[in-house]
Amino acid sequence: MHNAALRLSPITPSVDFDAKGVQHGHLRLPYSRDDSAWGSVMIPICVIANGEGPTALLTGANHGDEYEGPAALFELAQALAPSEISGRIIIVPALNYPAFRAGTRTSPIDRGNLNRSFPGRPDGTVTEKIADYVTRHLIPLADIALDFHSGGRTLDFLPYAAAHELPDKNQEARCFAAVAAFAAPFSMKMLEIDAVGMLDTTVEDMGKVFVTTELGGAGTATARSIEIARNGSLNLLRHAGILSGEPDVGSTRWLDMPSSDCFTFAEDEGLIAFAVDLGDAVRTGDIIANVYPVGKTGVAPIAYRAAMDGVLAARHVPGLIKAGDCLSVIATVTEET
Ligand SMILES: [Zn+2]
Repeated sequence: MHNAALRLSPITPSVDFDAKGVQHGHLRLPYSRDDSAWGSVMIPICVIANGEGPTALLTGANHGDEYEGPAALFELAQALAPSEISGRIIIVPALNYPAFRAGTRTSPIDRGNLNRSFPGRPDGTVTEKIADYVTRHLIPLADIALDFHSGGRTLDFLPYAAAHELPDKNQEARCFAAVAAFAAPFSMKMLEIDAVGMLDTTVEDMGKVFVTTELGGAGTATARSIEIARNGSLNLLRHAGILSGEPDVGSTRWLDMPSSDCFTFAEDEGLIAFAVDLGDAVRTGDIIANVYPVGKTGVAPIAYRAAMDGVLAARHVPGLIKAGDCLSVIATVTEET
């Protein structure tokens, strides 16, 4: 075992995870700096517990510029009463709190991308300390974990809840049952570009049920995307048996990302002109977007074409694109339920 794993976390919770009732408090992370010698990062946390039952861990703003999670979770923390629940709900609406406050994907303190920092280090950067606390102190309490994401400022997604293919097929089935219960308009069997260091992988490796989302993006949340986040959270809590009643499940379209052909990355910089919008069907060879060099007129655009049949599931948001940016994601529709 790595030595760091034996070290105590510097984070102190002001809530008692074993107490019944509702508690609003903080995870206090010491952060000594120029404007506050003995200062701390104060990460809001809410614990609601009553009776017997499982524990759900609900997290938002793992990336600081993704807003559906925080919007739904600050609301739930305010609205849920202990008398309604059997079990325990741990809500951290803004997990990478410094990034959330800055409105940026990564932390302004250490540039840490929290969802590439797991399992974290108790003696690492601020971001690594948050990851370590989640890994060693929050996930072990949970039976089911829901981590909200969207596209942030640079991507926009069809609204979907997602789980991953897992080596343990029983666990995988429980994860996809939870995705179905979340009942977003789309449900995804998700392929990760870069799974190392993710909260997802950490929770899954501990054998827990894990659901993630991509519910929109473009640096904001809409009334519709917040509603999806709110309803999905309540549905998941009903599915887990923490809230009474059955999940309110409408129709969903199941999507798959079958191979790396679903991703298109820009190889050129320029002005991006999309030829299709989110949800539009594309066939192999169709133009997804033209990228125009912007230095002079009279230069043909570079066409980026679909490498597979499917629907446009994600797209680059800013009007200008750089080499290496993710231009689009295509997903295949496998089922409508
Ligand atoms: Zn994210």
